[in-house]
Amino acid sequence: MTATSTPALSLEFFPPRDIAAQERLVRAAKQMLAIQPRYVSVTFGAGGSTRAGTADTVRMLQNLGCDAAPHLSCIGATRENLRDILSAYREQGVRRLVALRGDLPSGMGGDAGELRYAADLVAFIRAETGDAFHIEVAAYPEMHPQAASPAADLNHFVAKVNAGADAAITQYFFNADAYFDFVDRAQAKGVSIPIVPGIMPITNHSQLVRFSEMCGAEIPRWIRLRLAEFGDDKASIRAFGVDVVGALCQTLLDNGAPGLHFYTLNHAEAPLAIWRELDLG
Ligand code: FAD
Repeated sequence: MTATSTPALSLEFFPPRDIAAQERLVRAAKQMLAIQPRYVSVTFGAGGSTRAGTADTVRMLQNLGCDAAPHLSCIGATRENLRDILSAYREQGVRRLVALRGDLPSGMGGDAGELRYAADLVAFIRAETGDAFHIEVAAYPEMHPQAASPAADLNHFVAKVNAGADAAITQYFFNADAYFDFVDRAQAKGVSIPIVPGIMPITNHSQLVRFSEMCGAEIPRWIRLRLAEFGDDKASIRAFGVDVVGALCQTLLDNGAPGLHFYTLNHAEAPLAIWRELDLG
């Protein structure tokens, strides 16, 4: 891999739950537009958000001048539902999607829907809409928690690419070697699309532990120990987080990562502080 000079920056938001949260999101998004993200994305489903919440947030970000991409998951959906959603997004001027399988809410069981995996969703979007959308898919350098093995998970990732994905965003990680190993293994299987590392700022110890347990991202022992030592000292956690995640981003970019995708959690401060730390040469 060789270093690129213009890393593509993208930012992920989630639909706000109330008016106050929406106002905070608008303020955060406006602050972050200063660093000229190539696009922004809006999650769906996570934390109980509805499809309408995603579409409304996408519209709000479009009105701020962003290329905004809704996340679209196929779990629990019928082909007919998905056809309607794709058509509504096209009318709304959406040109980019993050296509996912998604997860059923834990403990609720329920109907998995007509399409089983994200690769089926990508194939469906291509069959229905041709090249109308730029399609991003998820990648897991440390393996998706439900995968049978790293090799099986990689093959399933390759299937999404072969179904028509244009680019990938990874689950977050704190070990750059896991990312480079994944990219090398994907490229050895003929994958040539950009695989953009997903970056989780560190701002809150208990929240990070909770998220990491859910998604299978490993928090290295030394980071866990340092965070535990800071206790309730939020300022020290934030400063440490900017140093650690800033160094990770620099390593990723210096060694050829094509960009960075920030999981902003609707806050501007940490992504901006990290971005300002970077030597973009
Ligand atoms: P898939 O690629 O379908 O993979 C899911 C699992 O199935 C993997 O273990 C894979 O190895 C396995 N698999 C795939 N194909 C096959 C096959 N043919 N046979 C057997 N096994 C197979 N969740 C949300 O709810 N809302 C969001 O907005 C959201 N955004 C996300 C954004 C990013 C960048 C990432 C990395 C994750 C996001 N997630 C979101 C979480 C995601 O929905 C979960 O990780 C979900 O469990 C898997 O989705 P996927 O698209 O990666 O699934």
